[in-house]
Amino acid sequence: MELPFAESYKIKMVEMLHKSTRNERETWIKEAKYNLFNLKSDQVFIDLLTDSGTGAMSDKQWAALMTGDESYAGARSYFEMQEAIHRILGFDYFLPTHQGRAAENVLYSTILKEGDIVPGNSHFDTTKGHIEFRKAKAIDCTISEAGDTQLEIPFKGNMDLEKLETVFKKYPAQRIPVVVLTITNNTAGGQPVSMSNIRSVSSLCKKYGIRLQIDSARFAENAYFIKTREKGYADKSIKEIVREMFSYADIATMSSKKDAIVNMGGFVAFRNETLWQKCQMFCIMNEGFITYGGMSGRDMSALAQGLDEGTEFDYLETRINQVAYLATKLDEYGIPYQRPAGGHAVFVDAKKILTHVPKEEFQAQTLAVELYLEAGIRGVEIGAILADRDPITRENRYPVLELLRLAIPRRTYTNNHMDVIASALKNVYDRRENIRRGYVITKELPIMRHFTIELAPAE
Ligand SMILES: *Cc1c(COP(=O)(O)O)cnc(C)c1O
Repeated sequence: MELPFAESYKIKMVEMLHKSTRNERETWIKEAKYNLFNLKSDQVFIDLLTDSGTGAMSDKQWAALMTGDESYAGARSYFEMQEAIHRILGFDYFLPTHQGRAAENVLYSTILKEGDIVPGNSHFDTTKGHIEFRKAKAIDCTISEAGDTQLEIPFKGNMDLEKLETVFKKYPAQRIPVVVLTITNNTAGGQPVSMSNIRSVSSLCKKYGIRLQIDSARFAENAYFIKTREKGYADKSIKEIVREMFSYADIATMSSKKDAIVNMGGFVAFRNETLWQKCQMFCIMNEGFITYGGMSGRDMSALAQGLDEGTEFDYLETRINQVAYLATKLDEYGIPYQRPAGGHAVFVDAKKILTHVPKEEFQAQTLAVELYLEAGIRGVEIGAILADRDPITRENRYPVLELLRLAIPRRTYTNNHMDVIASALKNVYDRRENIRRGYVITKELPIMRHFTIELAPAE
């Protein structure tokens, strides 16, 4: 008999969860102005708001916290991080930052100016925020297939090379300081980018003399998909694939809260020494001295260890299998989601489920609130609220997709939790015809509004 699949780790420490009643949740979500970011974590049973910084560190990472070196300059922990970045990603230069957006801030403060153009494949929200805040423009060049949630293709996160070249032809190279390739493509559903796409984007950038930045939050998950889906990579190790992926990039920004499995941390890595030196000023001004840049020594040590563990096949197989397990349950219940399931999350297609809720009343947000009310599960809206208003017209932007993202923290929940999530979603799905109204905005910030937005039920 073939043995069933099992996790590649066992549990050493547990944390109690809080269950609640529907009545309690109705009160809490109203107090939270129907924004799930405003809930207290104790009001949540299963927290799928994000996989960012919410994973479980290993025994070796906790041990690394104890041996971390807190020297202001030249800390041993910095050199551990340098060694891991050099060996695993292949970059010679880097600056630690307190998280991924801080890496973007350091980089973009140095290379972006007003009127610049930054093409990419569905820029992540903080990336777009940092670009638009500097009055530069982010142009999305993701393949159009990514907009069709039911289409099963292996590398749905790819950049469309024609769209990219059109941008290159339209604007002079001086106005395009960098191209951002996000792997995996978070906003398009945690969808991977193929090695051949990375290679082609890189050669197109080279042809036009434009730098390539890899936004690498989930680079290891991307490598797993390359190994399991792309021809010629099945026999390569994850670390070999990772080295090749980054060999095509000039710069990497990293939110280590994702694939380095730490609670806080990030970095920006460079191939070019001069750019690294230029960026040091903004690192020192905003983050800290260049050998700690916003991180404690112990956190840098845990990050270095996490980079190693996060790029091991057995761990990645466990992780991606859990996401696939949840997706298979949704298949069983006929619930539509962005296919195939992504690396870190399942993105439920709210537009296909809440067909009676007008888009002006935020379908994905409405579904997120319903799932919370059903079982205390917290997901997050990836739709019109996240998309913000158009910076010029100030009209709401309605993206092609209205998704409810259920992000799975690393090494944190069991498949029993996945069963609860799927059943709760099925209950909401079964009563979908009765959900007819969504929410209206009562308060919002001018940029990145989704974190703090306040809503009220539409009447
Ligand atoms: C999380 C994330 C970021 C930003 O990182 P933070 O650590 O949250 O600041 C940037 N890009 C992508 C693709 C991400 O997933």
